[in-house]
Amino acid sequence: MNAFSPPPRLLMGPGPSNVSPEVLAAQARPTIGHLDPSFVGLMDRIKDQLRLAFRTDNRVTFPLSAPASLAMEMALVTLLEPGDTAIIAQNGVFGGRMAEIAQRAGAEVRLVSVEWGKPVDPEAVRASILEAPQAKLLAFVHAETSTGVRSDAASLCALAREAGLLSVVDTVTGLGGIPVSVDEWQADAVYAGTQKCLSAPPGLAPITFSDRAVSAVKARKTPIQSWFLDLGLMLGYWEGEGARSYHHTAPVNALYGLHESLSRLLGEGLETAWARHRAAHDRLVERLQGLGIAFVVDKEHRLPQLNTVWLPEGVKDVPERRRLLDEFGIEIGGGLGPLAGRIWRIGLMGETCRIENVDRLAEAIAAVLP
Ligand SMILES: *Cc1c(COP(=O)(O)O)cnc(C)c1O
Repeated sequence: MNAFSPPPRLLMGPGPSNVSPEVLAAQARPTIGHLDPSFVGLMDRIKDQLRLAFRTDNRVTFPLSAPASLAMEMALVTLLEPGDTAIIAQNGVFGGRMAEIAQRAGAEVRLVSVEWGKPVDPEAVRASILEAPQAKLLAFVHAETSTGVRSDAASLCALAREAGLLSVVDTVTGLGGIPVSVDEWQADAVYAGTQKCLSAPPGLAPITFSDRAVSAVKARKTPIQSWFLDLGLMLGYWEGEGARSYHHTAPVNALYGLHESLSRLLGEGLETAWARHRAAHDRLVERLQGLGIAFVVDKEHRLPQLNTVWLPEGVKDVPERRRLLDEFGIEIGGGLGPLAGRIWRIGLMGETCRIENVDRLAEAIAAVLP
């Protein structure tokens, strides 16, 4: 059997982003036991790093051994019981997925929808809260990867807090690329992923719960339906100094990689990383506008790390993306839902986010345009 040898790729789609040689090297180090005291020490360091990245003092902060979709599921099934009401904002694919999960958890979902490509409307959320004051939580996507839109997390969390609702924030694409401030927002359950702006391979999901969220879990009348996602059981593993109990086997080598990627991000500094994402975005705007390509999202709501552009006249989506991949080794993403076939999604996340990569993409797009 021949070993699999992946082709060289510049990953400029909606994730995964490029992974640095340092992170790959970290993951290739020898596997040790997941209850080895040395590994337990690493788990503690990763939790501290995640608190810095999320800007929170939340005690309950850890990397879930799963893709980010399961962190979404964990946040919702942990806080919702059958019969609870959940207000869920939807302005793209991922808000829809939240609604689906909440429904399956037995909650009554009140969807606050806005047009794809626009941010969540705080006034519409306020109206929904007034109509359903009994609601338990508000959930929304901070950085909507399907459209490239940033919603105002601070305002939305404040609305929830003032009305006594818990807030669930998906910042899978946000963390590391734009400001995320869990404590300042007073958000209650916030999660991210490794393969977007953290530039570690996919498969892990940082998640943090406020003390209010933990109290809400303690006050549940029914047990959390999912054994794996039961926060209390999970914390027996991730906490409990000296007395960690086996819950599952942590993905040891993947956590070496996450530790390295967080060391790189925090070493660079969060503000510097955010500025790097803005600068690369500005360059992309300049280069693509030079080619007559228009952006989907209004300037003030754009995510610098996930850019959506209208397909130029006469350009076919799939064949041209295939040419970018085959002839230039560059992956970008297509549109989803109502935007399928109409837009391209260009990720400038984490390690990918460099001016020279923007220039390489702009030259490749210029070459494939008719
Ligand atoms: C990528 C993404 C997810 C899901 O992440 P997976 O690791 O693919 O499960 C969830 N929410 C948003 C906003 C994302 O961009």
